[in-house]
Parts: sequence; C-alpha cells; structure tokens
Amino acid sequence: MNACLGDAVGQIYAQKYFPPDAKAQAQAMVANLIAAYHKRLDALTWLAPSTRAEAQAKLDTLYVGIGYPETWKDYSAYEVRPDDAFGNLWRSSVWYFNMQIARIGKPVDRHEWSMTPQTVNAVNLPLQNALNFPAAILQPPFFDPQAPAAVNYGAIGSVIGHEISHTFDAEGSAFDSKGRVRNWWTPEDHAHFEQQAEKLEKQYDAYEPFPGVHVNGKQTIDENIADLGGIAAAYDGYRASQHGAQGPTQDGFTGDQQFFIAFGQNWGSQTREAALRRQVLTDGHSPGQFRAATVRNSDAWYKAFDVKPGETLYLAPDDRIHIW
Ligand SMILES: [Zn+2]
Repeated sequence: MNACLGDAVGQIYAQKYFPPDAKAQAQAMVANLIAAYHKRLDALTWLAPSTRAEAQAKLDTLYVGIGYPETWKDYSAYEVRPDDAFGNLWRSSVWYFNMQIARIGKPVDRHEWSMTPQTVNAVNLPLQNALNFPAAILQPPFFDPQAPAAVNYGAIGSVIGHEISHTFDAEGSAFDSKGRVRNWWTPEDHAHFEQQAEKLEKQYDAYEPFPGVHVNGKQTIDENIADLGGIAAAYDGYRASQHGAQGPTQDGFTGDQQFFIAFGQNWGSQTREAALRRQVLTDGHSPGQFRAATVRNSDAWYKAFDVKPGETLYLAPDDRIHIW
C-alpha cells in the first residue's frame, strides 16, 4: 500500500485496536526492558569503558515508538474522492513527494515511523536510533493488556528485547547514539564478541531440520544473538515488574513457567517443506522451532522446569551462552 494511504488507515486502526491504556502498559514494559539492558551493560566485563558508555548513551537516546507515531502527519492537503481510486492513489503519491521535498534542510525527525500501525512486525532503525512496534503486533497472542505480566513479557517482551539487542550487535556497532555511521567498538570488544558468537554459531550449526540439512550458524548469528539478548532482558524486566518475585501461579503454572511458555508460543508455525528448506538456506532468522530453543541458554528456564542432564534441550552450564 502507498505510504500515505497506509498511514491514514493506520490512524483509524490505532484508535480502534490500541487504546491509550494499552499503550501506557506497553510503554511501562519497554521502560523495564531498557532498565534491564542498562543493568546488564553495567555488569558486562568484556566491554571497554568507552564502548560501555556509548552503549548506555544509545539506550538513553533510543526512541521506542509504541503503537503509532506521537504526531500524525497532516493530510489536509490530500483530497480523497469516493469515485476515483486511481486519482486517490495519484494524489497520495504527489502528497508524499511534497512531504519528502519539504524535509530538505530540516533536522532529522528521529520519531518518524517507517511502518504503519496496522503492520504485524517490528523494526530497528539504526540511522534514527529508533524502534517501531506497530499497534498490530501489540495484540494477542503477543500482547494482551488483560494477560498476566509473565505472559506479556515472555511473548512481546522478548520481541522488544530482541529489537533493542540489534542496537548493540554487529550492525548496531556501526551506528552511534546519534545515528551517525561510526564504529564505536574497540578491536578487543570485537574480538571477544566474535569469540562468543562463534560458540553460538556452533550451537545452531548442530540443529538439523532435515536429515543432512543443518541450520547455518553464521548466516543466522545476528538474529540468534538478538533472541538471546531479548529473552534475557525480557525475563529481567518481567521480574522487575513483580518487584523481583515470580508472577502469580495460574492454571498450575508458576509465573516463570508462564513466561517461558509464552516465549515458546511466539514461534509456533507451520511451514511447507519446500519453504522451510528455502528458509534454512537463505533466511537470516532460524526456523521457529530453533528460535524457541533459545531457552537452552537461560539459567532461569532450567530452574523453572527442573530440566535435567540427558534431556533433549539440556546444555551444561559452561555450554550456555550469555552475550549481553
Ligand atoms: Zn532481528
């Protein structure tokens, strides 16, 4: 859909499906996740002090758009006629062109959105040091204002944490807190990061969705690291939202169990064999079942379900990988 029409529909969508109290609740989750990353960065020993300071600055200036833009674009100059589909499209393109031209010479608007509210997706925009979480992904099963905190943090919280993690990964390290293209890592930081990443690559290389066909650990490394950071920060954020305790037990599941179940349910999917084979060969994301297996690296998951040596997903403590 043309950007102008898409945004106009988005206003209607956001008002109907993403009321202000849902937005406030999602914003509180984001604040807890950012606080969790701040604490994790403080505790990391492998980052040089200058790198840590820039990482914290990136977090401090990160704009996290929730649901829809803070200010809607002004469409008063855009004329819509009920009997003129082609003309509507044409005029919206002209409107969009004029809007772009008017931006020349003005400061970058870091709060400008690149997705419409009705898009089920999320994005990290390194040139703006910004994230967008459209209203359409802030719906069940990812997010439900009525659901327990454990479930919301396990589901959408881990997705938000995933996107924040891209702020610091191989791509994020090439953009600073102002969105300028500048490498802010030392060679030692890179060397350590690579060393940890290599271990994680081996973990994913071992996954074999079809006999003889393995997940490519190198091809999927950035996304797997983001999944790892995402679940860790989401878990911290969820515990912080419960003042350090577990959320209440529900339907026989402890708060921590609900968190990890909701995380796993993010990745339930059905894929035809040909499509899955293509994904394994070409996609930067691991197939859903292996994204769900990120829990293997989380110490809290072992405690929550009393996972024992010899069980399918078990990893010895030294083989669990923690990057952020
Ligand atoms: Zn990602």
